[in-house]
Amino acid sequence: MLMDTSIIDAHLHLDLKEQNPLTSLLAKMDEEDIEKCVLILNMPAERKTFLKDIQVYNQNKGRFIILSGINVHDESSINEFEQLMNLDCTPGIKIHPRLFELTLDDIPWYIDFCEKYPGLPIMIDSLFYGEMIEHHIGVEYGVHLARHFKDRKIIMAHSGSLDFLKCMMATRYLNNVYYDYSFIQSFFKNTSLRLDMVEFLRRTSFRIMYGSDYPSFKLAECKNDFAALITEAGLSEKQTRDVLYNNALEVYGDRLSFLER
Ligand SMILES: [Zn+2]
Repeated sequence: MLMDTSIIDAHLHLDLKEQNPLTSLLAKMDEEDIEKCVLILNMPAERKTFLKDIQVYNQNKGRFIILSGINVHDESSINEFEQLMNLDCTPGIKIHPRLFELTLDDIPWYIDFCEKYPGLPIMIDSLFYGEMIEHHIGVEYGVHLARHFKDRKIIMAHSGSLDFLKCMMATRYLNNVYYDYSFIQSFFKNTSLRLDMVEFLRRTSFRIMYGSDYPSFKLAECKNDFAALITEAGLSEKQTRDVLYNNALEVYGDRLSFLER
């Protein structure tokens, strides 16, 4: 069922252990019939690797949407973002409260920054992971930015994870907020969170996007895990196409047509 539909993987990364990460990512996407992907460059090392392989990107522009991490504590993240802009990658903005050790006090800085780049989608990490619990504030960031930028798409990466229900109940009435199930669909497949993921796939299929979080998980594994949730939720063919493809196209489509010009 999953195989008949074109797929956009709306959340993945480069595997920096590979010799040619971008080339090997394309090969893996081909193997698993992934048409396009949203490639997230959180850290300087990821951006440097990407820039080294910019040729490969240029030859396959229509298959990649790039998001670049903006770290208030790291000036180079802003310079590299500008560099990507100048190279015509026009990346969306990725905010990672845990990785960048952000606090709620940094929100005004991010609002100012995003205002300088109108129209760019904004993805916020909301994976509850590790001991630095003071930085597990992705849901708060998402809500603040979605309330401020009502005409922009805000993507909650990992859908709040442990704060899944909090994330859904805080954001489901903000119709500019979208979600991905990357990481959580595989990591929590045998926990009580599965029940919530299935239920909200059913209720909110028009705003949830498929994503793998490769290389943390293999592409094939993620597809299987997500397919199982789709089956359990009893999604129609149209809803299945939405979560696998159409919703991502709605969020990022203007970037793709821009890139393909
Ligand atoms: Zn990720």
